[in-house]
Amino acid sequence: QAKRNGRSSLSFFDPTMQAELLSRVRLENELREAQANDEWRLYYQPQVDQAGRCIGVEGLLRWQHPERGLVSPGVFIPLLETTELINPVGDWVLETACRQLAQWAHHPAFAELSVAVNVSPLQFRQVDFVAKVEAILQRTQAPCHKLKLEVTESLFLEERDDARDKMLRLKQKGVRFSLDDFGTGYSSLAYLAHLPLDQLKIDQSFVQQVIHSKANAAIVESTIALAQSLSLEVIAEGVERDDQQAWLLTHGCRTYQGYRYGRPMPLDALEAMLSAESTI
Ligand code: C2E
Ligand code: MG
Ligand code: MG
Ligand code: MG
Repeated sequence: QAKRNGRSSLSFFDPTMQAELLSRVRLENELREAQANDEWRLYYQPQVDQAGRCIGVEGLLRWQHPERGLVSPGVFIPLLETTELINPVGDWVLETACRQLAQWAHHPAFAELSVAVNVSPLQFRQVDFVAKVEAILQRTQAPCHKLKLEVTESLFLEERDDARDKMLRLKQKGVRFSLDDFGTGYSSLAYLAHLPLDQLKIDQSFVQQVIHSKANAAIVESTIALAQSLSLEVIAEGVERDDQQAWLLTHGCRTYQGYRYGRPMPLDALEAMLSAESTI
């Protein structure tokens, strides 16, 4: 018996693996309850133009846990993805972002802001994803062209044509698309040219090394050139310092996101910051 399921019986008696399993199961149960207990928060990080004006925000999910405190998505998104909980949570994120867009539409200081939300490939592959987004836009009365969906190259590793078809249907409504973490995946450039994208988002790992690594600088330069030749917008994420922004501007990238301009923050902090100053 023990020999037949050698690996599983071994791990069952391994105390550290058992502890890991227990905490994983506990975390999973807590994640299931998070929605009912109203523990999700959407934080907002500014995106600015070359003059430092905030032109939009990225919504980033946080988990306000009663004992653990504020939990970062790196910890729980992978678990949401393996449990299919990513779908209801993704719905909550979209709904929250769209409600915010609808509210800002009536406020002169915020009416021009776009809101970007991250969409997991699993969420995007739901058969009714397009219908869900349309229903949320309809229900919230959000201005559709201010909603930007951030997808990653991994979405296009499987069922590419289905993904492209869904993007085209959403684009008809005015929804826009950004390709997040660009350069870290394995997608073919030839295929990317056929996608209805609006923006490339240069991954922060390249941006942060742009001054000190020739290789990273070359990657960023090529990405900017690619965006220009495909008539796509380009934004750099993870901009922390003035020298990085200056380098990016010199090389033709005019939109930025990063700690240099503001960390992800709750709604009231964002609104206070934007009300206090016209540039960041
Ligand atoms: P991402 O979409 O690439 O988001 C950028 C991440 O970089 C955020 O981490 C942000 O806080 C961080 N960041 C921004 N500026 C800087 C900077 O200047 N320096 C450094 N070191 N980091 C910076 P966060 O909020 O922990 O999110 C991590 C990832 O979790 C996101 O990466 C995204 O892939 C995922 N995620 C976040 N919210 C959602 C969501 O609502 N749905 C899904 N499916 N994924 C989400
Ligand atoms: Mg993102
Ligand atoms: Mg990113
Ligand atoms: Mg990233």
